[in-house]
Amino acid sequence: MDPMDANASARGHRRTAAPGPHRTAFCTIVPPHVLDKLSHAEDASLADPARRTLEHDALQRTRRRITTVRGIPAARAAAPSDKPRRTIYDAQHKTTLPGSKVRGEGDQAGADASVNRAYDGLGATFELFLKAYGRRSVDDSGLPLNASVHYSEDYNNAFWDGEQMVFGDGDGEVFLDFTIPIDVMAHELTHGVTQYTANLEYFGQSGALNESMSDVFGSLVKQHALGQSAEEADWLIGAGLLTERVTGVALRSLKAPGTAYDDDVLGKDPQPGTMDDYVRTSRDNGGVHINSGIPNHAFYLAATALGGHAWERAGQIWYDVLTGGDLASDAEFADFAQLTVAAAHARYGEGEEQAAVREAWTQVGITDLRAHAGAR
Ligand SMILES: [Zn+2]
Repeated sequence: MDPMDANASARGHRRTAAPGPHRTAFCTIVPPHVLDKLSHAEDASLADPARRTLEHDALQRTRRRITTVRGIPAARAAAPSDKPRRTIYDAQHKTTLPGSKVRGEGDQAGADASVNRAYDGLGATFELFLKAYGRRSVDDSGLPLNASVHYSEDYNNAFWDGEQMVFGDGDGEVFLDFTIPIDVMAHELTHGVTQYTANLEYFGQSGALNESMSDVFGSLVKQHALGQSAEEADWLIGAGLLTERVTGVALRSLKAPGTAYDDDVLGKDPQPGTMDDYVRTSRDNGGVHINSGIPNHAFYLAATALGGHAWERAGQIWYDVLTGGDLASDAEFADFAQLTVAAAHARYGEGEEQAAVREAWTQVGITDLRAHAGAR
């Protein structure tokens, strides 16, 4: 089956995410196509950091393919806690992880703003998953949350490596410190949640769903932290990350995919918002950061149609599907969409939730949705 075929179906290939060793993707917040564009800039101060970041990330991706990260850790000594267990490390501009410990759980804030933002961002992410969904950390078993800041030099990215979060300082020319946007941190940690649940394969439509989960819950962490309603939220990923010289507001927009930036050096945001503009490409693992605009926009449409706090009903439905055990690791958009309609019905019955979810998917061009009954 061609995973890039938007009409292809994963039905018949059902695999339930099982506990055990999971292969994990190397998930960066800035996709390679953006850095590639930047690396061709005439200005060496823009091109060089981008090229070095690209080379670093490519090497990590290769390593990741041969590395297996254990999905479920060994038995824990204590029951999972309602409190996060955060440790922030300073990589001191090297690429050896994790670096030296600079702040542990409960320690006072120090002088380093990156350390403090990382600590707070991990806390805000832990809070959303606990308060809204009763989830205790990334693995629902109290996994300690570790993050390293000041990674490498002029490093233009942030990533989840399967075990911890890593943040670059940015080159200061195009990108600022990657700990600035709380949704970037939450995006990376959500890759951990996905790794421990549906474990969506990081390629093609399942990869775009993996990316979309991180953008959706990344935005929800920000909205939850700010107490915003769906109407008040900016629905951006990475607001505050781009320097003033860039013509753009963020890396991605769930509200209006394709409009986050349009810059002479960075190029134009390539995200589609509907299946009509689905991008078939072999780059970026089959466009995982590109076509994620489609499920992202579906979530936005469902959440704003329902109104109020997006993490409550719309977020709950998405969370139920991500963690419910029925989402195959090679699921495509239509499979996911179908499960959200079923989940809306399972949790809220024949109400506006189910209708809003179905209408949202229809608007982005996923129309093959049966009624809830016997949805699977
Ligand atoms: Zn990602």
